[in-house]
Amino acid sequence: MKNKHPNSLYLLFATEMWERFSFYGMRALLVLYLVDKVETGGQGWSRADASSLYGTYLSTIYLSSILGGYLADKFLGYRKAVLWGGFIIVLGHISLALNDMTFFYAGIGLLIAGTGLLKPNISSMVGQLYPDGSSLKDSAYTIFYMGINLGGFFGPIVCGELARNYGWHYGFGIAAFGMILGLIIFYFKQDMLGDIGLSPKQIQQKIVIAPPKQKLTKIEIDRLIVIGILSFFSIVFWMSFEQAGASINIFAKDYTDKHIFGTEISAASFQSVNSMWILILSLPMSWLWVKLDQAKKNPSSPYKFAFGLLFLGLAFVLMAVATSDIQQGAMTASKSAWLLIAFYGIQTVGEMCISPVGLATVNKLSPPALFGSMYGVWFGASAVGNYFAGFLSSRIDELQTAHSMSYFFGIFVVATFVMSALAFVFGKKLTAMMHGVK
Ligand code: GLU
Repeated sequence: MKNKHPNSLYLLFATEMWERFSFYGMRALLVLYLVDKVETGGQGWSRADASSLYGTYLSTIYLSSILGGYLADKFLGYRKAVLWGGFIIVLGHISLALNDMTFFYAGIGLLIAGTGLLKPNISSMVGQLYPDGSSLKDSAYTIFYMGINLGGFFGPIVCGELARNYGWHYGFGIAAFGMILGLIIFYFKQDMLGDIGLSPKQIQQKIVIAPPKQKLTKIEIDRLIVIGILSFFSIVFWMSFEQAGASINIFAKDYTDKHIFGTEISAASFQSVNSMWILILSLPMSWLWVKLDQAKKNPSSPYKFAFGLLFLGLAFVLMAVATSDIQQGAMTASKSAWLLIAFYGIQTVGEMCISPVGLATVNKLSPPALFGSMYGVWFGASAVGNYFAGFLSSRIDELQTAHSMSYFFGIFVVATFVMSALAFVFGKKLTAMMHGVK
């Protein structure tokens, strides 16, 4: 049993896979739907307006995790939060599928509320399946992250192709279907979780005598500070990484020859490339961590963050160099599809050093009573990063007209390299403040 993952991990895996299927499927369509011409079923928005809405939507969806995590810690419990969240997400996607702008905005609001309840709390339950100090936690989060990306891989392809062939609203509709499946699985199989994720009230009833409330120790406070600092680093990471759904999505649509081996794929399908790389790289990367561990050379999380930012910066170096021949202000070009595939590959190596590592580290550093809230902080940082991602992407036309496309991508090179250098410099201090947690 010691070296085996519990079956309940796969329950969380399946639920989150379907939630991410719907999330990434809808996300891939959002900007493309808004900028599409009215005659072809879109809304005819400008790129700038669509990118702004994208940024606001994505940042709010992650910001709501702070409230969702807190509510679960204090009142609902993680399990009920996931169920309610999933239900509200289904309503949100159904709303988007109705051909009406009022329902569109209502749908966005429901998705924000539902995801805030589901995302931090399902993430926190993964680590709770294991005893403190268990060496299985890292690999559990890697497996969970593969579930996220299985959904992230199929969501854009399925929703993108349905939207392209039948209309935008079919694309949004299938996203609802994905979340319904996830919700059904979680609802009927939740007993597999045993006592994990029950509400504070249910736990008190089981324990009979409530444990006395204790003040945080100095070690716990240090660890919470590290969560805050790592989350801060992740802001610049997500600000650059999340160009994926915005400026890079536009780059796929207007500046890329979308033929791969002679077949043309939709711009939305490029959104799946990142997840494809995760599925390819997860096992070799976890193997690498284990080997480094055995050699006593496994870097602690702050150093992994430094490497993650470095790789992300390198991906943008590739974009800046490869687009240097695009004419200033040009609204189209025909760059090879392989450029984006290579870009996503390098940035995914960076993501593997930060995202699943961050999820596991938050669990290891949090006191149990604050699990939900600390995941709220972690995803709150994603919120800020996503906000700036949309803000910068909304200036793509302006910046590439005033300067060049390379200049636009160069901004992300500078931002990530600076943060990576800071993470290297402060790595030792932060590791010490983790008091033995790796
Ligand atoms: N790819 C990650 C997920 O969907 C990103 C989460 C984040 O922005 O923190 O879970």
